[in-house]
Amino acid sequence: MVVTCACGHVFKADLYQSANVTLNPDLMKQILTGGMNVVVCPSCGACFHVEMPFLYHDMRKGEMIWVYPAARAADRAAVDEEVRKKWAELKRSMPPEVRDKLEGHYGAVKVVFGMDALVEHIMADVSPEKKPAEN
Ligand SMILES: [Zn+2]
Repeated sequence: MVVTCACGHVFKADLYQSANVTLNPDLMKQILTGGMNVVVCPSCGACFHVEMPFLYHDMRKGEMIWVYPAARAADRAAVDEEVRKKWAELKRSMPPEVRDKLEGHYGAVKVVFGMDALVEHIMADVSPEKKPAEN
């Protein structure tokens, strides 16, 4: 993935376009601590979060959530359309037996805007005693 820093430097970074937090619990930690898709510019040293659509996937809860940049919240209809297309594409790329299972399991795919909204959503489901300690 190619990233452009505010300083104008363009560089390649490894970014997640999807996060399966059931298979990869470390990604859940990254999301909750705000470290998901955070990069450091090799030129100026700036540390910033790269905003791009990514798919949050919790198999245990049967939940798939598209996380879109907060700046696109005003563009809801277009985003919904994009998500519909991506979901259709994703399903086409799956073996039929997997697809059938997913469709039965997941129903509607949710969309939230901004990583904060995703964290809020995750935390709302976690009972207070299970919340990680505040730093
Ligand atoms: Zn920079």
